[in-house]
Amino acid sequence: MASEAASRVSFGALSAIFDDTKPQTPEPIVQCVHIKPLPPQQNNQERYRAVFSDISNYVQTMLATQLNPIVTGGVLRKGCFVRLKSFQANSVKGKKILVIIDLEVLQELGEAEKIGEPKPLETKTDDDEKNQPTTISSSGFYGSKIQGTQVQTGMRVQSARPALGSAHATIYPIEAISPYSHKWTIKARCTSKSTIKTWHNRNTEGKLFSVNLLDDSGEIRATGFNDQCDMLYDIFQEGNVYYISNCRVQIAKKQFTNLNNDYELTFERDTVVEKAEDQSDVPQVRFNFTAIGDLQSVEKDTTIDVIGVLKEAMEVSQIVSKTTNKPYNKRELTLVDNSGFSVRLTVWGATALNFNALSESVIAFKGVKVSDFGGRSLSLLSSGSMTVDPDIEEAHRLKGWYDAQGRDGSFTSHASLLGTTSSTMRPDRFKTIAQVKEEQLGMSEEAVYFSLKATVIYIKQDNMCYPACLSEGCNKKVTELDPGQWRCERCDKTHSRPEYRYIMLVNVSDHTGQLWLSCFDDVGRLIMGTSADQLMELRQADEKAAGDVFQEANCRTLNFRCRAKIDHFGDQQRIRYQISSAKEINYSEEASRLAELIELYNVS
Ligand SMILES: [Zn+2]
Repeated sequence: MASEAASRVSFGALSAIFDDTKPQTPEPIVQCVHIKPLPPQQNNQERYRAVFSDISNYVQTMLATQLNPIVTGGVLRKGCFVRLKSFQANSVKGKKILVIIDLEVLQELGEAEKIGEPKPLETKTDDDEKNQPTTISSSGFYGSKIQGTQVQTGMRVQSARPALGSAHATIYPIEAISPYSHKWTIKARCTSKSTIKTWHNRNTEGKLFSVNLLDDSGEIRATGFNDQCDMLYDIFQEGNVYYISNCRVQIAKKQFTNLNNDYELTFERDTVVEKAEDQSDVPQVRFNFTAIGDLQSVEKDTTIDVIGVLKEAMEVSQIVSKTTNKPYNKRELTLVDNSGFSVRLTVWGATALNFNALSESVIAFKGVKVSDFGGRSLSLLSSGSMTVDPDIEEAHRLKGWYDAQGRDGSFTSHASLLGTTSSTMRPDRFKTIAQVKEEQLGMSEEAVYFSLKATVIYIKQDNMCYPACLSEGCNKKVTELDPGQWRCERCDKTHSRPEYRYIMLVNVSDHTGQLWLSCFDDVGRLIMGTSADQLMELRQADEKAAGDVFQEANCRTLNFRCRAKIDHFGDQQRIRYQISSAKEINYSEEASRLAELIELYNVS
């Protein structure tokens, strides 16, 4: 098998990619000899690096994020053989890097140990304009370290895209744009356009606007200042597709954007923006919705997309920023969805002033920030966008649900999960364990929510918590490298101790059956009556005392709010029940609920 595979590999193709004078192999076949995630980026999007060998040489590559599923799905693995269908050759700080935009794993060739002794591609140095920082250039990843010389060579794109009109012969995918690419044109849809913002300070004043641009490979933000603001502001319209070329490319300022791109564009004097005659082959805004009921488990300051039915819109009000003393217009909206939850969402500035969506419209928001004010609330970022009644499947589904049952439903706000506010849980959403199983809640594609009154009968003691990062709002698992050295990959920090957080499996029972529920830290604290940190400390000092804490947590009856969703483990599927919140029983409410149920038996 390996010898057959070896005979298919395009020997010498990699060095030709970086050398125009050599004959090129279209769609070369190479072996994957290494694969590894990049250190996590600020926005959390995973990226992978891979090393490919053509037996003669090996080269570092960065995989476009749309290829992530073939890595996480285990299709692209060390040892396998692939056909590189679309890629771009870059040279960064003297190191040759391919950005892989599309590839195909040749599964019929199987997997093999590294064939031959491929050598790193030789480095040839050119002049460089600037020392450009890059996320690619970390050292020590497979093969030689980066040398100090800064190099930049020309590059070409070999793309599997259909040829476009001659005026726009080389359309680059957004994903391939970097400070090292020149002479590119992108064809992208403007998915959001900001208002014009002005600034005045002691030395300068000016204005700017920015747009978010999207194609099938990714998204990028572009900003125009002063003259470019005058020149281009009216040309861009949200929703339209443009050819754009001659912009400056620089490292993205992630604090001002919700987009997932390491770079951003600045319009310059010779920037060309032209509306595309063909609007159809560029995707519409991409959403990755979080259900309102799931917000409780989303960390503060995360940027998400959300869709909901507009239940209520308040009047515009003004607040004065404490830091800048500038007044801001804001408007608070209340959204609901079929998770049975409602949430407050604030829109700002012109979006707040011009807001005219009718009550009960479906609104999709891209780029909203999650805050923990009032339990959970949302705020539309200036880089975000709002679409009223979008023509997308989720919107139609939500509309159908709302007309059928949502209009008369009552909703739990995240604020009411916090404390003693009286419960708005309706009796019809309470299920017995037998009903949960019989109705196969969670078997469909969507998560299903239900309330459950049940008694804790067993708490699994091993793996009931994990060591988490101490950084504000992080909560990621840390690893102990050396005693007293707990490393968080995400924050890139080492802490002297972790904070333990619960991740528990709890067996509960009611008069109809038993069910395993899982929960996170806040619910864990309520069930155990102590923090995971304290419990771990106690366990080290006195194992028996820690056992007693588990004993005491048993046999308590609580009201659980749960979410059922199907989980895939390889070929197997099973429903996972997650507790999103738990409460002590309020006996007077409970009594009224039971009274209502008993009432139903009265046949008069
Ligand atoms: Zn961290």
